[in-house]
Amino acid sequence: MLALGDITAGYGETTVLREVSLWVPPASVVALLGANGAGKTTLLRVASGLCRPRSGTVRMDGADVTGHRPHVTARRGMCHIPEGRGVFPHLSVRENLAIHAAGGDADETVDRAVSAFPVLGSKLGQQAGALSGGQQQMLALSRAYLTDPCYVLLDEVSMGLAPVVVDEIFEFLTGLRRQGCALLLVEQYVTRALAVADYVYLLSRGRVEFAGEPGELDAEQLTARYLGTDHGN
Ligand code: ATP
Repeated sequence: MLALGDITAGYGETTVLREVSLWVPPASVVALLGANGAGKTTLLRVASGLCRPRSGTVRMDGADVTGHRPHVTARRGMCHIPEGRGVFPHLSVRENLAIHAAGGDADETVDRAVSAFPVLGSKLGQQAGALSGGQQQMLALSRAYLTDPCYVLLDEVSMGLAPVVVDEIFEFLTGLRRQGCALLLVEQYVTRALAVADYVYLLSRGRVEFAGEPGELDAEQLTARYLGTDHGN
């Protein structure tokens, strides 16, 4: 279980999260929804250790990891895929993937990534920055597959991508979950997020306004009231 308890956090004088508690059970999908600026990204940053909370606790499988640096939470099985394309644009696709070999066999690591996202197989020699947006996101997401995490934090990974690519990404996420990963999903496509989620949290101005199962929410109402346009995806 990834458990955030009574998290208060912010930047400088600004308080962004106020006493937020959230649980991600093993092998579950939790959708974290809320309007722009509600604090979703900040919550993921607190969970992975990129942002130290002012108060509250972060626990992974019972161990207190509050304020632990991201490389420490990563070693414990946390994988944070941040907003934007988390790739090294000047390195080749192969080099980007080989980074995750962690002293193991780079070729095997590359093969595994290609099995998850076959399109990367024909691009291995290309600079990552020259890939399409969708291919860069697949490259970034392959980290979640290669590092065998227990908890994957996903920040708007389908942002700006064509619907067909978003389909592929959601299939990948469903596969991760089948393998036993738990996912904490910040996603602009509310309908898609709710379709795969076991639990949903709605953040409003840094507070949890709703926590429960997706079926308890009226998606249309939710979209209209809190999230603006859902782009129909
Ligand atoms: P969005 O959907 O727009 O990404 P969000 O729900 O993810 O929104 P956050 O990115 O967590 O929200 O931002 C919450 C608030 O914190 C916003 O008002 C934002 O301007 C502010 N904020 C975010 N990062 C910083 C920072 N590094 N320094 C100062 N303020 C920040």
